[in-house]
This record gives sequence, C-alpha cells and structure tokens, in this order.
Amino acid sequence: MHRTFILIFLLSALPLRAQIQAPKTPFDDYLVAPLRVHRLVTPGELNLTTTLEEKDLHRIFEKVNRIWGHAGVHFALESILTEPAANPNAYRQNYKSRQLRWLLAIRPKASRQADCFHIYYIKRFLANGVYIGRDGMFVKDLARLRNVEGGVGEPIPRVTSHELGHALTLRHRQAITNLMASGTSGWTFNEAEIKQARDAAKKLKWIRTAPEILKQADALYKKGDKKKAAALYRQLAAIPLRCPETARAAKRAN
Ligand SMILES: [Zn+2]
Repeated sequence: MHRTFILIFLLSALPLRAQIQAPKTPFDDYLVAPLRVHRLVTPGELNLTTTLEEKDLHRIFEKVNRIWGHAGVHFALESILTEPAANPNAYRQNYKSRQLRWLLAIRPKASRQADCFHIYYIKRFLANGVYIGRDGMFVKDLARLRNVEGGVGEPIPRVTSHELGHALTLRHRQAITNLMASGTSGWTFNEAEIKQARDAAKKLKWIRTAPEILKQADALYKKGDKKKAAALYRQLAAIPLRCPETARAAKRAN
C-alpha cells in the first residue's frame, strides 16, 4: 500500500518536472547573449511596479534558458536593475491604447545604453508581452496563457522566451505547441526557426560563442585578474549543461 502511494506520488510529480525537456546542445555550439533585466518599481504607480523579486527572475531565466537551450542560445543575466519608470504619466495617458510604442517612454535613459538585450518587467499593460526593439521588450506580471499539452506551467518564462524569439527575428507561427504561437504555453522550435534565430544572434557582435568566452575567462584567470574572469565565468555557469567547462565556470564564478 505504502509503496503504491509513493509510486503514484512520483508519477504525478514527474510531468511537472519534465515540463521543459533538458536541452542537449553541446557546450561548443552555445551562443551567449547578455541580457539586462529592469525591474520597474515606480512610487505612486502600482501598474508600473513589478512584484517579481530577484529570486523569481533567477527562476524565470532558468526556465527561459531551458527553452532556448534547444536552439543553443543562452541568455546570460548581465544584471538585474531595480529602478522607477522614467515617465509614469505615459501610462496614465496611454494604457488603453492597443499601440504599445508608448512603453518606450517609460525606460530610464541611462540604464538602457549597454550593448545587450533589455527586458522590462511591470505589473500591467494591454498585452502579455511585447517586443519593440533590442532595448525595448516588456513583460507583465499578470501574463496569462492558454495551456497546451507539454507546455510551460508558468506564463512569465514563456512570454519572456517568446519576446526573445522576436528579438532574434522569429515571426509568429500558429502551431499551438511551439514558442512562436500567440498566447499559448507552448515552447518548442522547428529546425528553420533554430537556424534563423542562431543566424540572427551571430550577426550581433556582443553575442559570442561559449568557447570564446571561456577562452577569454581562462586567460584572465591565469593572469590573476580573477574579478574580470569571474564576470565571464558567471555568463557560462548557468548554461543548463553538465560538462567540465560549465563545472569550471561555476567554480570560478564567485
Ligand atoms: Zn509575439
């Protein structure tokens, strides 16, 4: 009786853990894209205030990278900034508009200059997420998706991954269980999408291959510049792959 109970428990826990299959991309094929997360926290405007905490964002990006690992692209968190919206009035004037370009006006100016992807998290706006440009992606806390078989159980990682798909030139494809379908929890790619996203990533000079970054990190480490080396090792340590390279990166990342 007891054993049966345990078995049922294990079987029922399994699908949850297996939601996003582990990617099998080898280390050498990974492209690493730095990404800055902006937690907008705006006094007096709850709609422009995310309630996602840093630990939530780490969990979210663990899932994003499990999804994107299937395309051999890894989004490395360059930093997680907490800052107020630049122009909270833009929300009050535009929140009913279907045209979402007004969101660009709420980005704080100084923190969006870095060469990387920029994603802004806020509480509420008229879509789950939107890609306007490399330095203008927005995702809301209250995102909701239509669940599909084998889909991601948590909306925000899926919405984030979908907008990053647009950032790497992918268009919508309404096949329901795939990442670029609108409004579903699907997360898969087809071969053409993988090739297109990788080709787009290779054109951006601030996206480098994992071996290139490792080589530079090792050289810095050898020279004794451990702080600079650690920053590079951190980019590699979160790649969802157990191999000597990621183990070394994890060990030297702190
Ligand atoms: Zn879309």
